[in-house]
Amino acid sequence: MGIHIIIVGAGIAGLCAGIALRRAGHSVQIFEKSKLETETGAALALCPNGVIVLKSLGLDFEQAQACQLNRWEIIDGISLQKIAVQHIDRMASRLRSAFVTIGRNDLHRELLRLALDSDQDGTNVVKIRLGTSVIQVNQQEGIVTLDDNSCHRADLIIGADGLHSVVRSQVLPQDKGAVPAGLSAFRFTLPTEALLSHSNSQDLLRDKESTSFILADTSDTVNERHFVWYECRGGDFQNFVAIHPSCVDKTEDAKPQMLVERNRMATEVTCWPLERHEPLRSWTFGKVILIGDAAHSMLPFGGQGANQAIEDGGALGILLSDLGSSDNIPTRLKLFEAVRVSRASRVQILSNVRVGRESAVTSDLQVYLEPGGSCPQSFADRLSHDSGFDVIAVCTEMMRK
Ligand SMILES: Cc1cc2nc3c(=O)[nH]c(=O)nc-3n(C[C@H](O)[C@H](O)[C@H](O)COP(=O)(O)OP(=O)(O)OC[C@H]3O[C@@H](n4cnc5c(N)ncnc54)[C@H](O)[C@@H]3O)c2cc1C
Repeated sequence: MGIHIIIVGAGIAGLCAGIALRRAGHSVQIFEKSKLETETGAALALCPNGVIVLKSLGLDFEQAQACQLNRWEIIDGISLQKIAVQHIDRMASRLRSAFVTIGRNDLHRELLRLALDSDQDGTNVVKIRLGTSVIQVNQQEGIVTLDDNSCHRADLIIGADGLHSVVRSQVLPQDKGAVPAGLSAFRFTLPTEALLSHSNSQDLLRDKESTSFILADTSDTVNERHFVWYECRGGDFQNFVAIHPSCVDKTEDAKPQMLVERNRMATEVTCWPLERHEPLRSWTFGKVILIGDAAHSMLPFGGQGANQAIEDGGALGILLSDLGSSDNIPTRLKLFEAVRVSRASRVQILSNVRVGRESAVTSDLQVYLEPGGSCPQSFADRLSHDSGFDVIAVCTEMMRK
């Protein structure tokens, strides 16, 4: 039996959940406040834990111009000397999938295509209403109110509305919300051709293995600067993320203007003041469940925010399949929480620290360890912990039992 599900937000979490739940036989309506005119440029690193789910949803990685990553290199941000290298291509068979990069727009476009992919009579699609904000949620009755004051009832409401979630603020009125981390991320992409034709950058680009994910770190703990570089969009672009302490007076001033003004290569530099939530013990509130950044936003140090949102969607699709009756929803949501809450909380805590500083959060992690589990103590441990989890296999096994 299919139930009626409303999802708030058509970001990565909302779309993955929508596709998976429609495939599980439910009727799905998404309300999205934007017109989905998403930013151009920026890319994401997707790890095996996320890629496995996207494959199960049928994402076409070729259409999305995904690039495979083979090496994860840490270099000294000042001297450019290599500090550590992980051959992540050699981990792919153990982790059951490769690491890839993908343009945000490309991922979004492909997810939308899957969501709107209809069966023969065109009825079996995820319904998506754009330009519509959810302003209120009644968790007992399962009702959302939209900005046109219309009310919509569902058996289950999924809050996938991101870092500043309205759904979260409605079901958790005492929650202090996302708190500033004191850091900002500057993101930009440059055409590979432009870098190759510029004398300052061509040597740098030639020295970099095309399939490497480079993380340049300053060991200087006062400045806490951090730089990530990898190729994306079939290799036609280079994606950069620079994390700096936020400039208190005027963040705009801290933009890497030099690159934009001197080289005129970066079309756009976006600045994201970074914020994060503390882990929640539960994501379920009556007929409402939170997923993605609305439930577990994290800093980008582990490159896991979107991967965790994707895991949420994949898990919901399996654990809400063959439901029988809507009376079974609470039991299935408990299973979902058993699979997801402790795991995502550990990833969230690890994401607070930069690579190589895993031992700094050991005591925070212990609260969320599974029986027999251990706390990652190194970059390699963390990579295995974060990326080496197959949520599809775990949920399928749980349903079989
Ligand atoms: C600099 C930076 C780099 C990152 N790099 C990586 C990376 O390499 N790998 C990775 O895995 N993660 C990365 N992340 C994290 C990743 O971007 C997020 O975790 C992910 O986008 C969260 O997806 P989401 O769907 O939960 O939220 P969002 O993407 O924020 O989507 C929420 C959606 O809800 C809509 N919405 C909001 N309010 C309402 C409302 N009231 N009514 C209706 N709709 C609403 C919004 O318009 C939006 O479309 C990075 C983050 C940053 C800041």
